Amino acid sequence: MSYKKPLPVPDADSQPFWEGCRKHRLRIQKCAECGQVRWPPSIVCPECLSQNTDWIVSGGRGKVYTYVVYHQAFHPAFEEELPYVVAVVELEEGPLILSNIVGCPHDFVKCEMPVEVTWEDITEEFSLPKFQPIQG
Ligand code: ZN
Repeated sequence: MSYKKPLPVPDADSQPFWEGCRKHRLRIQKCAECGQVRWPPSIVCPECLSQNTDWIVSGGRGKVYTYVVYHQAFHPAFEEELPYVVAVVELEEGPLILSNIVGCPHDFVKCEMPVEVTWEDITEEFSLPKFQPIQG
């Protein structure tokens, strides 16, 4: 059975991120000049405009910054998952990343809830970073 939702379309900036995801590593960028950690990937640092960038691996932990519960599918392939949670997760390293909260009922999700990354392997090439509540 093939994956029916839209697939990521990596570009030159995000290719290293998707390669990391395939190995279940959440890679984010860190400016080699000023040290600012950023997401999404970009060619220049928004802080100091340097193009000198390192990729670091996030610890994959953070907290729910904000979220919304989807009760309507805007693409037919998402219908069977309704209701599902789309959230902005604030990583411990600082950046905000858009993802889903999984592994718990949708009404369990709260702002500030501690979460950690979990991986959904959708094809041979792509794994998606999702977030679940940190147990205990
Ligand atoms: Zn910088």
